[in-house]
Amino acid sequence: MKSADIVSYPSTVLAPEIGPTIKRDMAMARQSADMTRAVDLTKERGAGPVRTSHPQWLDLLPPCNNACPAGEDIQAWLALAQAGKYRQAWDVLMRDNPMPAVHGRVCYHPCEGACNRNELGAAVSIHAVERFLGDMAADQGWLPSFDAAASGKRVLVVGAGPSGLSAAYHLTRLGHIVEIHEAGPVPGGMMQFGIPAYRLPRADLMKEIARIERMGVRIVLNRRVEDLVAAKQAGGFDAMFVAIGAGRTSAAASASASRRPERPPAPQNSVCCASTTLGSMKIGATGRLFQALADSSDASAWSSITCMARASWR
Ligand code: SF4
Repeated sequence: MKSADIVSYPSTVLAPEIGPTIKRDMAMARQSADMTRAVDLTKERGAGPVRTSHPQWLDLLPPCNNACPAGEDIQAWLALAQAGKYRQAWDVLMRDNPMPAVHGRVCYHPCEGACNRNELGAAVSIHAVERFLGDMAADQGWLPSFDAAASGKRVLVVGAGPSGLSAAYHLTRLGHIVEIHEAGPVPGGMMQFGIPAYRLPRADLMKEIARIERMGVRIVLNRRVEDLVAAKQAGGFDAMFVAIGAGRTSAAASASASRRPERPPAPQNSVCCASTTLGSMKIGATGRLFQALADSSDASAWSSITCMARASWR
């Protein structure tokens, strides 16, 4: 190394006792620069004191939210619940889902299947927290807050199943007056007729429906709507939402089930539609199912159906 390579500082800048030290360090720096090329910060990007990028907070849709059929803002209400702000968490949840106690029991929680925490161990128990918040709201008698101005518009909802109840809830939140006409003797649709009571206790279901009624929704039972236009005009409604659901199946569907190639041909009247059968059991009309079983020699079918009838739909 040439002596000219060593930077020397004027004595007015450095104290005499540290000057030699600086000179020695600078010399060593020059030596190491021979092995590792010095970064030219005037031309190159890379490590060094010049920042060319910096982090930003972006609020993107997380996988749980994306997977939730109800489109819930899961990360928002989970954060509030984690902070012990259960009422606020429930309010956020209720912006999207009017029945958290029901979903917290019967939803097959695809949100948890999509959870990033699966890569690290196990998913966040979103389903359980949702149920906890739903049950707490029912116990405390909470009502969702909404501040939309009354529109003065009246809406007829046909059908008091999940779709009709949800539509009525959201329309009420938007300030409309809603009336539901339900053909059956109880509200709830497939939640009543298609899900066993051990999975969805009817008392919990009815609490969530009662809350929708307390918000102002009028549910008229045993009112079958045959003519939509006539019903709209007779009630003076401004709009209608038809939510007759998928509970009613056609004879053609039952017939096609018996024609599936992998099955042996079924004797006439021996194929029962599942939803129709469950609905019949709910209201005590089990005749066709048990007639079909009486024609069957399948003991396991007998056993399972009898248990189901005893335990689930009573
Ligand atoms: S459990 Fe709740 S949050 Fe999860 S997918 Fe179902 S409705 Fe959505």
